[in-house]
Amino acid sequence: MSTTLETMARERLALARAASLTRSLTETERLPGGYVLRGGQKMVSFSCNDYFGLSFHPQVLAAAREALTAGTGAGASRLVTGNHAYYGPLEAELAAWKGTEAALVFGSGYLASLGVIPALVGAGDVIVADRLIHACMIDAARLSGATLMRFSHNNLDHCRLLLEEHRGEYARCLVLTETVFSMDGDRAPVKALHALAQQHDAWLMTDDAHGLGLFPAEPVEVQMGTLSKGAGVYGGYICASRAVIDWLVGHARTAMFSTGLPPADIAAARMALHVLRANPKLAQDALERARWFTAALGREPAQSAIVPVIVQEPERALEAAAMLAKNHILAMAIRPPTVPPGTARLRFAFSALHEAKDITRAAHLLQEHGYA
Ligand SMILES: *Cc1c(COP(=O)(O)O)cnc(C)c1O
Repeated sequence: MSTTLETMARERLALARAASLTRSLTETERLPGGYVLRGGQKMVSFSCNDYFGLSFHPQVLAAAREALTAGTGAGASRLVTGNHAYYGPLEAELAAWKGTEAALVFGSGYLASLGVIPALVGAGDVIVADRLIHACMIDAARLSGATLMRFSHNNLDHCRLLLEEHRGEYARCLVLTETVFSMDGDRAPVKALHALAQQHDAWLMTDDAHGLGLFPAEPVEVQMGTLSKGAGVYGGYICASRAVIDWLVGHARTAMFSTGLPPADIAAARMALHVLRANPKLAQDALERARWFTAALGREPAQSAIVPVIVQEPERALEAAAMLAKNHILAMAIRPPTVPPGTARLRFAFSALHEAKDITRAAHLLQEHGYA
């Protein structure tokens, strides 16, 4: 038991390396139009979640620039002095977007999840979650102290079975799913899950990180999301009834004990939502580009702006990504534990700004090399 921290880190890295599971940071500069600069090389990126190109939109940039007069940082948590007047209109816009009475903006989607779940359920309660929900909801579920049960991905029968067998043993019950699954791009049967939850006196919480702007909101009890992907900025949010939001203000610890967002972020996010609402074609274009890709691969039409190309083993995913990178295409390899073992993949995220020639080129390269 005399292992030093150094040895532990080195041994673990060696194990990860042997399994093609090491991870490292690569400097990347994002450019407008769905491109990035890496190692001095311009690449078309299918690995950014800025689905509508809003992070470079002139109106969004202008809103951020103008808000810099309010300072670069919030100065304190929202409960102290960090609740800038920009929050009100953004939260009103989010609530209108989701068809709820109110909304609460957090530092990020991860923080929103980590704040809301432990504020709603705890020891003696149960969480019934889709097997593939995002890490931020798993972590939040664990933090809450509630019992966590998982149903097979998008499997209503399995979810029903868990509720029928176990709901009665617990006080409160929260069902968790994503509207659009982040690593698979498929959509959850939210309406049916909501009906099921209601039949069993359970609340449904959806994570709409990858659905904002693309699909109409389903009015469920708790809708979570992020301003960091389609909205192109940063921050997270919860949309719910006025009473739930008022409760969260004083009980979601990640909102209470973490500094508010920089004013420029809030102003930019609000403008991004405005631009998205005024230009429904952006959403159509992102979806259409994902479907050009699935068509080129001879697959069923994409259900969202995310399309996985599953190659199974981590090593193969790295090889496929390297092959595309040589061709100036960035599509990151996604490996366990982000996805289940045996399902390593390239995850393609499509932007309204991607050009047809780049999409078909990526598809043809994958086919030519036997990856799709
Ligand atoms: C990215 C993501 C989050 C976290 O949002 P951030 O704002 O990046 O913290 C939550 N859920 C899903 C499904 C995501 O893909």
